[in-house]
Amino acid sequence: MTNSRPLILAHGGAGLRRLTPTQAACLADALVIGYAILEQGGPALIAVECTIGLLEQSGLFNAGRGANRQLDGVQRMDAAIMEGAHLKAGAVASTEGLVHPITAARLVMEDTNHVLLVGPPATRFAQHCQLELLPRARPPRRSSARSARAATQTLRLYRAMLKSKRTRKDRYGTVGAVALDRSGTVAAGASTGGIDSMLPGRVGDSPLIGCGVYADNQSGAVSMTGMGEGIIRLVIAKSICDHLVMGKSPAVAARQVLHMLVSRIRGSAGALVLSPDGRFAIRHVTPHMAAGWWNGAGQPTVRGQFP
Ligand code: ASP
Repeated sequence: MTNSRPLILAHGGAGLRRLTPTQAACLADALVIGYAILEQGGPALIAVECTIGLLEQSGLFNAGRGANRQLDGVQRMDAAIMEGAHLKAGAVASTEGLVHPITAARLVMEDTNHVLLVGPPATRFAQHCQLELLPRARPPRRSSARSARAATQTLRLYRAMLKSKRTRKDRYGTVGAVALDRSGTVAAGASTGGIDSMLPGRVGDSPLIGCGVYADNQSGAVSMTGMGEGIIRLVIAKSICDHLVMGKSPAVAARQVLHMLVSRIRGSAGALVLSPDGRFAIRHVTPHMAAGWWNGAGQPTVRGQFP
């Protein structure tokens, strides 16, 4: 059993928006909660879940209470969590009405043999586990003819938005965290309401293991944020871990993979990268990234940009 120095990193999204003082304070509180678990010898997995849980609860980020709405007006949320000792992982996608999708993801990991549950059955699974629900916000049910008309209208709206480039508003911020516990185990997680303009049913990188999230004690832990479509196409989280295995530092691994994302497909993203020896990097190829870290010394560091 190693005796690693605990460390936690958290993010509140990468994009065009500046970090507000309220969001910065909330990120710092989330780091304090996560670090307290690690300091008491708790597992990295639970530190990641609780850190993300506070951000979901706050309503200040695009996750949990603050999740974006898809073009039909419904909030659909995705989340994933993974631990690096046994490569266990759990995820949910397109869940509705959950305050804590990250906890639903952990329960998929711990209480089932599956990795990913999606849609209404995933929501029912979370309800069965008695997770907290948001006040009901779903539009009333329509007849199938009216649903078909509504779907056509939504698709038209989406195409018009793509043309007018209104999809580029790029609001903050999916949330995520990575942690290293005293036993030397790393964990990673992410939770999101998706992007600004998205068709109903759209799922991004966050619940896809290897894309938005990855954790392996033999390489490191990564939590991504940014345009999920690009992150999925280049399997970014696992790709950064593969660079770590080759002996690259977190800073070099993140820089090289994010550079590839931009140069190959003009993607945009930010990453938290943590290696099991405690080195870490926060990097983004977006103008801003809300993020921070804490190892128990002084105060948590939280900023809206990282060089
Ligand atoms: N990666 C998230 C998604 O594509 C969005 C974000 O990180 O802001 O769903």
